Amino acid sequence: MDRRKFIQYSAAGVALAATANQAISAEHVTMNERFINKELNITSEIDVLVVGGGTAGTIAAIQAGRAGAETLLVERGSQLGGTATTGGVAFPGLFHAWGKQIISGIGWEMVRDTVLLDGGTLPDFSMEINNTTVRHWRHQVHVNQFIYALLAEEKCEEAGVEIAYYEFPESITKTAEGWQVDCLGFGTKRSVLCRQIIDCTGGAEVTGMLNLPRLRKEETQPGSMLFKLDNANNPGRANGPGPGLLDAIYVHGAISANSRTVTAANLTGRKAILEKVRKEKKRLMHMQPETAFRESYRIEGETIITVDDYTSGRVFDDAICYAFYPVDLHTKEGVKPEPLKKGIVPTIPLSALVPKGSSNILVAGRCVSSDRLANSGLRVQAPCMAMGQAAGAAATLAVRKKITPLEVPLNNIKELLVQNGAIVPNF
Ligand SMILES: Cc1cc2nc3c(=O)[nH]c(=O)nc-3n(C[C@H](O)[C@H](O)[C@H](O)COP(=O)(O)OP(=O)(O)OC[C@H]3O[C@@H](n4cnc5c(N)ncnc54)[C@H](O)[C@@H]3O)c2cc1C
Repeated sequence: MDRRKFIQYSAAGVALAATANQAISAEHVTMNERFINKELNITSEIDVLVVGGGTAGTIAAIQAGRAGAETLLVERGSQLGGTATTGGVAFPGLFHAWGKQIISGIGWEMVRDTVLLDGGTLPDFSMEINNTTVRHWRHQVHVNQFIYALLAEEKCEEAGVEIAYYEFPESITKTAEGWQVDCLGFGTKRSVLCRQIIDCTGGAEVTGMLNLPRLRKEETQPGSMLFKLDNANNPGRANGPGPGLLDAIYVHGAISANSRTVTAANLTGRKAILEKVRKEKKRLMHMQPETAFRESYRIEGETIITVDDYTSGRVFDDAICYAFYPVDLHTKEGVKPEPLKKGIVPTIPLSALVPKGSSNILVAGRCVSSDRLANSGLRVQAPCMAMGQAAGAAATLAVRKKITPLEVPLNNIKELLVQNGAIVPNF
């Protein structure tokens, strides 16, 4: 019996049918057979494994795929984009500094294409940030988080990247060729044999599993749970009809280290929102499915970027991308961004993406090797995307040449990045 007939035969048939017709689309789509595997145990033999399909990981995987590496992207959640989509921080920045574009490439392509498909507008980047009348956030690009997640999947598919949602690494063993990474999902056990790993989990979780050194202070920046009371969410719009920006509630102590800490952050954030709804007697119109995390572990890399490196705009010998944002540390008292001095554009070296003493693993994203204050500026989305692209390029060349990413001639990495639209310091 089809659904429509069942509803008509049910006791409250007429009312239910009307509700169902309003709520359920009549469109039909069919799943890709490739994913329908009845086996519990799966083996994937690939070149590059990207763990974490968030802000950095999506870009890393697309770059590796476009450069010809067989790439698998393992994501514990249900969609790509991470903090930019699931966390609802859908205003990536900053791609421009002092009147010039400093970050481009695949991240910029994602952001631009999202705005274009959504009929949105880019900020006026010719308007120079002066930290008084034009604050840094005027250069953040407001993207529709839903379109961003859809385009991320499309671009992965076009690049030949395989996506594995609801999976995460359970154990990792070094092999003669690279790594064996055993992943778990519900109803799935996947054994991944790969040459290179890129850890884009936000909190360097893979690096932690390998007992490589990580950094974390007792105090960490709060996370935030994003929601909207009273007015409908207007995704991808800062202004215009209806309020565009979501509201946010700080979740102090939120770290993304494991399922228990993420559970605790979500419970705490949602409880606070429920209290707010009761107190303010307003309708809850929108709520992100997960807390957005600002800080947990950073790696201790071959190079650690210090706040002096950051604020002086040190150009590292092995710089592979730029970054630009105020020093932006959130505490229990809130945040007071400290703008960079006029003309300063910090750089990120490849060696800050390499866990100290490791080979064949890179990180990208907010877990970049840096002290807390430098990290408070480096962690924003445009540099996370640029790091992702650099890691994807370095890992792919390392596979091709059968060497470690740090052994790949730097100019080869830079060439590949520039071919893929990136902006590279000193090149
Ligand atoms: C409230 C808030 C406001 C912010 N404001 C701005 C802003 O205005 N502009 C800006 O540009 N940036 C902003 N940021 C910073 C920026 O959004 C993040 O630092 C950045 O998106 C982090 O990117 P990432 O790739 O490192 O991590 P994420 O985007 O968080 O991605 C990590 C991914 O890894 C997955 N994952 C984690 N562990 C595992 C595992 N073991 N196995 C598989 N998958 C795993 C996660 O599910 C997630 O998808 C803000 C951040 C927060 C929290």
